[in-house]
Amino acid sequence: MKAGVYDPGFFIWHWLISIALIILVMKIADMKLLYTTFAIFISLSSDAQNLKSGGRLSDIQANMDIKHYSVQIDVDTINRSFTGNTGIKLNLKQSTRSIDLDLTDLMKISSLTVDGSKTEFTHDSNKILIRSKAQLKQGPHKIEIKYSGIPAIAARPPWEGGIQWARDSSNKLWISQSCQGEGAKIFFPCKDHPGDEPDHGADLIVTVPKGMVVAGPGVLKSKRDRDNRSTYHWSTSYPINNYCIVFNAGDYEVVSKPYKSLYGNTVPMEFYVLKQDLNKAPKHLELLERSCRILEKYFGEYPWIREKIGIVQTPHLGMEHQTMNAYGNKFKYTKVGGHDFDWLLHHEFGHEWWANKVSNSDWAHMWIQEGIDVFGDALAIRELEGEEAYQKKMRDNASASQNKLPIVQGESVDSDQTYTGDIYVKGAYFMHGLRAIMGDSIFFPALMKFIMDPAYTYANTVTTADVERHFSKAYGQSLEPFFRLMLYTVEKIRVSVKKTTDNTYEVKLENLAMPIPLEIQTNEGLQRKMVSTQPVSITSTSEINIDPKGYFMKEIIK
Ligand SMILES: [Zn+2]
Repeated sequence: MKAGVYDPGFFIWHWLISIALIILVMKIADMKLLYTTFAIFISLSSDAQNLKSGGRLSDIQANMDIKHYSVQIDVDTINRSFTGNTGIKLNLKQSTRSIDLDLTDLMKISSLTVDGSKTEFTHDSNKILIRSKAQLKQGPHKIEIKYSGIPAIAARPPWEGGIQWARDSSNKLWISQSCQGEGAKIFFPCKDHPGDEPDHGADLIVTVPKGMVVAGPGVLKSKRDRDNRSTYHWSTSYPINNYCIVFNAGDYEVVSKPYKSLYGNTVPMEFYVLKQDLNKAPKHLELLERSCRILEKYFGEYPWIREKIGIVQTPHLGMEHQTMNAYGNKFKYTKVGGHDFDWLLHHEFGHEWWANKVSNSDWAHMWIQEGIDVFGDALAIRELEGEEAYQKKMRDNASASQNKLPIVQGESVDSDQTYTGDIYVKGAYFMHGLRAIMGDSIFFPALMKFIMDPAYTYANTVTTADVERHFSKAYGQSLEPFFRLMLYTVEKIRVSVKKTTDNTYEVKLENLAMPIPLEIQTNEGLQRKMVSTQPVSITSTSEINIDPKGYFMKEIIK
């Protein structure tokens, strides 16, 4: 997701809109419109539930390992409602009578079966508690849930998710889903935790009025027309974050071209572009292709090579929806090194590696998804404009850091609590510091090795400790003190500088129990010294300047 600006005014607007709708209802006699308006009001109100994703897993959910989701959604565009049927395949680690799932209360369940048998359940407070009379054995089970309801309207997509009923400039209906913060439970029943991706992927089968085109994850298995309705069956066989099991529907044209990967594999590149913007698609795909080459250089082959590289035009800014990245930056390009560059396109696409291939097992570690992806944004600058421009971008990231809360605020943190601007900018700056400590010849291969390691990718989600152990091993000594200081506290590196004679200085670290290389500007030029808690003597006839290029977040104590 792209970092948003915190906007307290939004909540006031939210309720003003709701009140305006009530007044509108009072003035409108037409009952159908009244129903629709009331439905919108209810949906808007429901946003106030402020649903979050993740957090501490209950013992019951920890006993469940999701294998596959099959999500069928019939979209009623008049009443703005869904009729859904979700099949969930899961393994129980131990036999039990209890299975818990997550689903918004806005959806009402009409039928629920476990292994084909109707089973007792309650659905309240956005939780489905299934309580079987018979013991459910350890091993595979299948749950099928039929439901319907009016999904919450996105209040401020993609940061406050839900569904968007937008119109394109030709006034054609344009539907979009986003739910990273709230979790997919706002659209279908699921285990809403980032640590459990369905190992065998997901099917998303969406029915819309004929004429609308549905874009989704994975490959398009079929499109069937019946009774003026079209059903699109999308399917991915890769593990996928639940918030990526979403669709967009609109007056799309598909523009495609083949892409040859780093390893010589060919994968289709597909852009679901609104017909009104069709002429912009070829150039946009060129930018996407270039971004893909840059990202492959640092992070390895495109992760979803069996399926597609996909982007879809959306009415919201963007989101890293796996193999169908949401793009809503309106083709606004800036210049980087004289080249046209689309920040949003590159950033969201970089999430195919960091967020989708490497996923945090708990939202506590979301900096791995956002911070390393923002680091990837800066690496694109390095490629297009050079090291100096990259360094400047990193200093900008450091200045943008608020440093009020640690990036990692403990374990079992929900999506809401973890979400600060610092998981982006300070997370990226942390990677910049790590690069400086390790040196390029160790750092870049270690980064590549991490993302190519099956232990850290696809269904194997990761924590900060995994990242730390991997990089420490590659470095040959523990980097844990640097990880702890930068990610788990808001302290800066305290560097003590004492002038001992007219032309000598003693430099040491006060709160970091490991040596780091520091560049020090002296009258003789820039020197690189390993500095630790033991004082290092520096000779200079002029005042020394510590880390002038800004590799580290530091406090100089004189
Ligand atoms: Zn992002």
